[in-house]
Amino acid sequence: MPVAYRRSFLSVRSQLHPQTMPIWGRTFLQVTAAYTRVFAKDAALPLDFAGIALLFCQGPHGRYLRVRASLKRQRDNGINAIYGGTIPRVAHLPRAEDGRGTLDEIAEPIQRWGARMHGVVFEGDSKVRLASFPDPTPGPGEVVLEIRASGMCGSDLHVYRRPPNQSNPAVIRGHEPCGVVVAVGAGTTGAHARMGARVMVHHYAGCAGCMQCDSGWPQMCEEVPIQVYGEDQHGAHAPYMKVRADTLVPLDDSLSFAAGAAISCGTGTAWGAFERMGLSGRETVAVFGQGPVGLSATLIAKAQGATVIALDIDDDRLQVASSFGADFTVNPKHGDVADMVGELTHGKFATMVLETSGATSAAAESIRIARNWGTIGLVGIGGEFRLILSQVLRKQLRVLPSWTMSIQAQRACSDFVVKKGIDLDRIFTHRWRLDQAEEAYQLFSQQSSGKGVFLI
Ligand SMILES: [Zn+2]
Ligand SMILES: [Zn+2]
Repeated sequence: MPVAYRRSFLSVRSQLHPQTMPIWGRTFLQVTAAYTRVFAKDAALPLDFAGIALLFCQGPHGRYLRVRASLKRQRDNGINAIYGGTIPRVAHLPRAEDGRGTLDEIAEPIQRWGARMHGVVFEGDSKVRLASFPDPTPGPGEVVLEIRASGMCGSDLHVYRRPPNQSNPAVIRGHEPCGVVVAVGAGTTGAHARMGARVMVHHYAGCAGCMQCDSGWPQMCEEVPIQVYGEDQHGAHAPYMKVRADTLVPLDDSLSFAAGAAISCGTGTAWGAFERMGLSGRETVAVFGQGPVGLSATLIAKAQGATVIALDIDDDRLQVASSFGADFTVNPKHGDVADMVGELTHGKFATMVLETSGATSAAAESIRIARNWGTIGLVGIGGEFRLILSQVLRKQLRVLPSWTMSIQAQRACSDFVVKKGIDLDRIFTHRWRLDQAEEAYQLFSQQSSGKGVFLI
């Protein structure tokens, strides 16, 4: 039986009228509703029904059904929602490709599919699929969020590319959650654990009692194995997500859900590094890598008043960095990085260097372009940082690796974004539906596009 908060649109089947039309060389079965007002008894709110479109596809595992359901629900912000999804491997599809199948035959698999929640899982070797899960039920100290935005983060790619035996297809991915509280577990307390609250999630859970957890760093818990949402616990690439109430961070009314998703890891990671490094407006900051974290760093450093040198081997990304306010751009492919940065800074180099790319070469160049007494922040994962002591020592450099951010820093980052009016939504170049996860991750994996977000 679906949980009370569930939005259901499938009780309309007896009111559907099918018609067919060829689109993109395939038969597209358009089903429209005779009634515009639908009230599903298990839905929290009445839904205004717009239509369902079904696309029958042939995949490697047989035929499957692609569903686009257009639903309008009057939300508090007045935005209408469109839900979509894919029904995998429907065994006995009716003769609907020519439109002659009976409506009940079509509706039945849809109904079966819609009775459960679907989330994105990684199967290993860069394969993703939508898998079905029961709706989450919150226990004591927990809430369920209706996810509105779930960001794609560079660290997801490491997991996405793992071989199948190191992948865990039982876990829903996505560790940049942002949404609305729709269910609160019995006895759950906390300022943000209330129905309708707009929230982000600090995506780690520890013991909640040790010094690390107490200081806002549950990812460094010293008492229990940490739980990372989207890796050890179900993440946000799904319509609903259960989280501990103490992981919630309020989302300011002026911020979009997508912006909240970015702050929940990518942008928060840039902020966390700068917090450790002690960024001020006096600095000249060089940022290696202009992916989602690097671009966030560029935005934050500019808003702080610093001079920013953006570095990337992709000229398109550098162009974006310029449009985000970077004062100078450097492509390491076009010459010696230290020469170029030296020229731009009249031989003074960068007082701060933030390495976000994860490339070993960039980590090595960080030492070369840092000014005497400078600070190097390291957040990019994947490469090596070789500490050549003679170089670091004689420049009196500070080298600070930084792992994401504390829960307080996530909130501080959010406050800064609001106060400075930073348009974080610009970071997202692609907005996806969950049923486009395969395409979304394929594109993201090329690491030449910007950042993607699932809007749910
Ligand atoms: Zn702990
Ligand atoms: Zn991340």
